[in-house]
Amino acid sequence: MRRREFLASAAAFTATSAFAAPPSSTNGNVRFAITGALEQGSLAFGAAPPGSLAALDGRPLAITPDGHFAFGFDWDQTRASLVSVRYPDGGGDSRSFTPTKRQYEIQRVNGLPQETVTPPPQVIARINRENELIYLARMTSSEGSDFLSGFDWPAPGIESGVFGSQRIDNGVAVAPHFGVDMAAPVGTPIHAPAAGSVTISDDYYLDGGFTLMDHGQGVSTCYLHQSKRLVKVGDSVKRGQLIGHVGQTGRATGPHLHWAMNWFQVKLDPSRCTRKPKPDPL
Ligand SMILES: [Zn+2]
Repeated sequence: MRRREFLASAAAFTATSAFAAPPSSTNGNVRFAITGALEQGSLAFGAAPPGSLAALDGRPLAITPDGHFAFGFDWDQTRASLVSVRYPDGGGDSRSFTPTKRQYEIQRVNGLPQETVTPPPQVIARINRENELIYLARMTSSEGSDFLSGFDWPAPGIESGVFGSQRIDNGVAVAPHFGVDMAAPVGTPIHAPAAGSVTISDDYYLDGGFTLMDHGQGVSTCYLHQSKRLVKVGDSVKRGQLIGHVGQTGRATGPHLHWAMNWFQVKLDPSRCTRKPKPDPL
C-alpha cells in the first residue's frame, strides 16, 4: 500500500465511531491473531485477513496488504495494549494484551574508560547529536515487512550482557542495558539477522562502529562497537549478509557485539525475537 493510501485509509479508520470505545472481545471468534513472546520488551506479530486495517491504542498501525503488522511492548510496560482490527467486510474486533512481567538483573561493570561513563563536557554535544540521529532514524516506518520471517543471531559468542539489566558502570547507575552483548574476538563476522535496509552506518562516541538497519513497519536492529562496518546508508541487505566485524570501539570493556532491536522508540529484547537458539561461542 502506498503511503498516501495508507494515510487516507487510516483517517477513515479512526473516524469510524465503532472504534471510539472498542469493547474487549471475550469470545473466541476474533479473526486476527497476535503471536510472539508477549512479554515486556518483546515484538508482537499480528495477522489479520487481507485488506484489514489495524490500530494500537486507537492509533493506526502500518499493515501489509495481506494483513501482517507488528508492535512492541515496552521493557517496563505494565498496562495492556489494545489492538483493534477492522476487516474488509466492515466488521472488526478489539482485544487487549498485557505483557508478562520480567525480572531484570542488576549488572555491575567496572573498568570502563571513565571518559565514556562520565563523558567530558566537550563531547556531550556530540553524544546528544548522535542520539538524536538514532532517534530520528527510528521514527521511520518503511513499507517493508522483512521482520516477518523472524531474526537469526547475528554473531556467535558468549552472552555477556542481557537486556533490561540495571547497569552500574564504574559504580555509577546508568540507563538499563537495552540490548544483548555477545562477547567474541575482534574480527568475528556479523551477519544480518534478517533482510533490511541500512539507515545509519557511522562511528559514534559511545556506540563505536555503529550500524542501524530498518526491517519495516518501525522494526529496526542495530550493531555497536564494530571494528569494521561493511555496509553503507541506503544499502539493501539480505538475510545472512556480512555487515561488519565485532570490535571494542566506543564504551566497551572488551570485544563484543551489542545487538539491539526497536519498534520505533520502544526498546525490544532481540534474544526473544530470534527463530533459533543462540549459536555456540567460537
Ligand atoms: Zn551492550
